[in-house]
Order: sequence, then structure tokens, then C-alpha cells
Amino acid sequence: MRNKKTPAKLSTNLIHKGDGKFCRKLADMSSVPETFPVYLTSVFAFDEVPPVDAIYEHKSDAYIYSRMANPNSDAVAEILAAADGSPSARKKKTGALVFSSGMAAIITAILSSVKSGDHIVASSVLYGGVYDYLANELPRFGVSVTFVDFLKDDFTRAFRPETKLVYTEIISNPLMEVPDIAAIAKEAHSRGLLFFVDNTFATPAIARPLSLGADASLYSTTKYLGGHSDITGGALTANSELVAKIKRFQTLYGAMPSPLDCWLLARSLRTLDLRMKKHSKNALLVAEFLEAHPKVEKVFYPGLKSSPSHKTAAAQFANGRFGGMLSVNIKGGVREASKLIKEMKIISFVPSLAGTATTVSYPVKTSHRAYSAEALKAAGITQGQLRFSIGLEDADDIIADISASLDKI
Ligand SMILES: *Cc1c(COP(=O)(O)O)cnc(C)c1O
Repeated sequence: MRNKKTPAKLSTNLIHKGDGKFCRKLADMSSVPETFPVYLTSVFAFDEVPPVDAIYEHKSDAYIYSRMANPNSDAVAEILAAADGSPSARKKKTGALVFSSGMAAIITAILSSVKSGDHIVASSVLYGGVYDYLANELPRFGVSVTFVDFLKDDFTRAFRPETKLVYTEIISNPLMEVPDIAAIAKEAHSRGLLFFVDNTFATPAIARPLSLGADASLYSTTKYLGGHSDITGGALTANSELVAKIKRFQTLYGAMPSPLDCWLLARSLRTLDLRMKKHSKNALLVAEFLEAHPKVEKVFYPGLKSSPSHKTAAAQFANGRFGGMLSVNIKGGVREASKLIKEMKIISFVPSLAGTATTVSYPVKTSHRAYSAEALKAAGITQGQLRFSIGLEDADDIIADISASLDKI
């Protein structure tokens, strides 16, 4: 029996007041929120059956279930499509999809493009997780992969009749090499192959792979697009036909991010251009400092004139920017690299990248653990190699921290 002190219909009111019907009322008002709100809803409500039929018959783009699409995933996709969109060679409309992680974006894009018996040509220096997937997981499904050095090899020799896909990063991790995207696109397309480019390190504020001829531009939005080390996510941009094809797999595999993460990503994208400008400016200053330092063997940064990738990078990158990522070979090995990490005060050891703060990572100990000793050697990833993600602080303070720490090793 109802307790007299409880108002009638308490449970019903708690459940039904201020619910989705309130959105209808809002939609009829003559003002809208200045910023796009977060739609934390897993599902959408209907008054009758026909609108649901219309969605499944592709006659309506209303929402039904947030794993398939939701206002926040669409809002952020709209921003990304506009950022990467270009009158591509094929003159198709650019679309975008967002994912629950960079790995989800990359794997969903790859799985939607190959089947058992197919072959992929990929760069030998890749984000560790992607390398692990290509080298150790895809073969389980009968898909083989040949790894090539797009800068040094005649990569066309790796193509086979069953090759379907060509894959590279626009700035390789951790060696910061920049392949000629337009040249690879030309070779791939002349054979009818798809060409995917991981644009995580550059972002649309520095390079737009679709305009250089790639079929899809892939992102870990955990990195610069998010930019504040507070979300895990992924994205891709491509022409609307390819997006529609990959979207089917995204829905099946359940690789959709939460509406809140989409909202955070949209918020971060507002400042992407400003952030990439400062990341790039600071990174060049740090790279120049390191290059002149006696305890440094080698600096890997495409913005340095000494970089073998400098010319290609300058030709493909916008606004004289080369990004915030650089690697450095410290003279010595594990002992010296570990000591430097320990000595630095404002720079923390963070096995990721692209936040607002400058951080350092140690590829052989973290992201590139999946590489065998031979693969590391072949790629040029050494025990004395550290990777810096240069942040948005005052460049003088970043350099002072590295300089004082180098003095102690
Ligand atoms: C981090 C990263 C990935 C993987 O993204 P997650 O969001 O960690 O799944 C892929 N490619 C590059 C270049 C990355 O830096």
C-alpha cells in the first residue's frame, strides 16, 4: 500500500517528467542552445510505427539507437568531415565516422575492406597496436600483410594480384618519417587498390590526406583531436560511399563512442587549429635545441632541415607546421634514457601523446613492445630512443627542463 506521505504517482513522475517529450517542446521554441548539448540517451522514443519503418528503409535519418548513430556522433562527424573535406579527385562528398578508439576506427576500416585471401601492403613503422594487429592477428583470418619502407623501398614490388589495401601513417611513430602520400595514392589507384592514411600525428590542421589522394583518413581522437588527455576515441573521414560501407561494420561491431565522449571531442575540435599551431612552434624550438646538444645522437622531427622527410613534409603540410611529435636518440641506452625520464620535472613519462602538457614516452618499453628485436632493428627503433609529445607550455620552460635533466645523465 502507498505510504500516505509519498505523493501519488511519485515513481511515475520521477520517470516521465522532463523526459524525451520535453525535447519536442524545446524543438518548438524560437531559441536554440548556442552550443550543441550532450544527448545522453541510448535509445529514442516514437509515437507510432511508421517513423521506425522509415528509418530502416533509409527514408528518414531520424535516430533510433545510439550505437547506430546519435546526435553527438553526428555533430562531431559534421565537424570532422568539414575539416578534412576537400574537392577530392573523385569529387564525392566527404563523410566522417567516430569510433570508441583509434584502434576501433582503424580495424573497422580495414575489416570492411578485406576478406580471407586478400593481401595488404603496409608501412613497417606503425603504431604498435596496429602493427600487432596486422602482423599477428589478421593472418588468423587468412589476410596476409607485406611490410615496406615507403621512403626507401620500391614498394610497388610488394603488390600482388590479391592486394586490396595500402596502409601508412602520415608521420610515422616513433621515427617521424613522412611518406609522399600523393605518390603512393597514384600507385595504389592505378591498380584499383584502396589507400588508407593514419593522420593522427598531423591532424587536419596540418595535413588533409583525402586532398592528397588517400581514400580514408584515420584518427585516434585520443590524441590531438581530443587533445586534453581525457577521452579515448577514433574517427575516419572518407567519401560518403566508403563511409556508408564502413558504417555498416561500425554498427555491427559496436565501435561507437559514448555521446559524452563525442561531445568532449566536438568541444576540443574548436581549438584544434590554435593548438596545432603552438604544438608545432614549440616542437621546432625543442628539436633545434636537442639537435645542437652534445648528449644527443640524433633528432627525428620533419620540421628540421636535416630530416630526410623535410622536403616531402613541407610540400604536403600546411602553414609551415610539422606537428608536436619528435623523437630523439640519447647517447647511450636504457640506463641513460631511463635516467633522463626520471630527472625531468615538468615532463612526465606518459605512454601516450598529444595532450596539453609536454610528455615523454619510451617506445621500446611501451608502444612498440610487440616488435621483435629484429623488427626494432630493421625499423631503427633503439633502446636509447625517447619520444616527446611537445605541449602548449612556454617553450623556454620545456627546454629548461630537458636541458637540466640532460646535464645530470
Ligand atoms: C594512439 C594511436 C593509435 C591507436 O589509437 P587508440 O585511441 O589508442 O586506440 C593509432 N594510430 C596512432 C598513430 C596512434 O598514435
